[in-house]
Parts: sequence; C-alpha cells; structure tokens
Amino acid sequence: MKLLEERIIREGKVYAGDVLKVDGFLNHQMDPALFRAMGEEWRRLFPGEVTKILTIEASGIGLACVAGEVFGCPVLFAKKSRTRNIAGSVYTAQVESYTHGGVYTILCAKEYLLPTDKVLILDDFLANGNALLGLLSLCQQAGATVVGAGVAIEKAYQSGGERVRAKGVRVESLAKIASMTPDEGVGFC
Ligand code: 5GP
Repeated sequence: MKLLEERIIREGKVYAGDVLKVDGFLNHQMDPALFRAMGEEWRRLFPGEVTKILTIEASGIGLACVAGEVFGCPVLFAKKSRTRNIAGSVYTAQVESYTHGGVYTILCAKEYLLPTDKVLILDDFLANGNALLGLLSLCQQAGATVVGAGVAIEKAYQSGGERVRAKGVRVESLAKIASMTPDEGVGFC
C-alpha cells in the first residue's frame, strides 16, 4: 500500500535490534485517516463475512478500531496479563514478546469470542509471528473461524509470515519490508 510505504520512508526510524519505530503515525501518535485507508484496503482484500476483529493490546487497538467501523463489526482486543494461571471464563495463550523479551499471557473473555464468529485478526507488525499465533490460538480454543490476518507492516525477512501462513491462515500485509538497517533504511519487497 503506497500510502503506508511512503509514511514509513518519510517518518520511520530503524534501530539496532531490528526495530522500526513508527511512533509518529502508528505506535504512539496515531493517524486516523491513514488507519481508515488501511481498514478500507483490508476490506477490499477480505470481502467476505467478518463478524469480529481480534487484535492485541496496545498498538493494535487503534487501527483495529477504525477497521471495525469499516467492516461494521465489534473489535475485541486480547489483554496482556502478568498472571500465568487464569482459570475459568477466559481463553489464554502464551506469547513471546518481540520488543521487550520474555513471555507473557494474553487472554480474552469466552463470552466475546464465539464458535459462530468469523474472525479477522489484525496487528501492527509481523516479525517472528508469535503475537499472531497467540491470537490464532485464542480463536482455535473458541472454535471460531479465522477469515485471515491483516498486518500493517510485515518484516518479510523474518520468520513470522512463513510460520503463520504454514498454519493455513491467509495473511495480508499492507507494507512488506525486504530489508532494513539503521544506515540504509527500509527497502520494500
Ligand atoms: P512477532 O510476535 O511477530 O514477533 O512481533 C510482533 C509484535 O512485536 C507486534 O505486535 C509489535 O508490537 C512488535 N514488533 C515487532 N517488530 C517490531 C518493530 O520493528 N517495530 C515495532 N514498533 N514493533 C515491533
């Protein structure tokens, strides 16, 4: 998606440790007009029935919420919890953090993720795929149908895209990074 690629070129900063900072429009300050264009692009790519959008806190929430308005469906975000053993009314999955290291638990209430749901998973970045695989696990536990996954920025040189697609999930990324270094910046696929 040209609009997103241009923003990344203009405002993105590549840090050591394979981290792209896009705090000016995605991860800190947010650009709702850009989010709307992204939501419309995902709608074009996933024209079938979607009854729920599922994302993960915190950075996915803004773009998922705007996309939810485009799709006309509720938006559910998985919460990150420090507690490992939470029983009962929630689905949980373990996710390894890309940016902070360590493993955390994500959870969502069973009452909001149903076997009848047709779910589109959305997130800001796809790196090693752990966040998306955690969200996929929540959907599988619920018996929900996963329509696909939409990602704003996929770092295509990392393993996540392959891992998630190997599970049979259609992944649509709006900007695909082929390589990035602090010196040379970002190159797209
Ligand atoms: P994964 O679970 O696919 O390894 O990483 C995805 C998660 O890590 C995303 O939810 C995102 O928050 C974070 N992440 C991964 N790579 C980057 C990056 O280059 N920049 C930023 N800002 N976040 C990233």
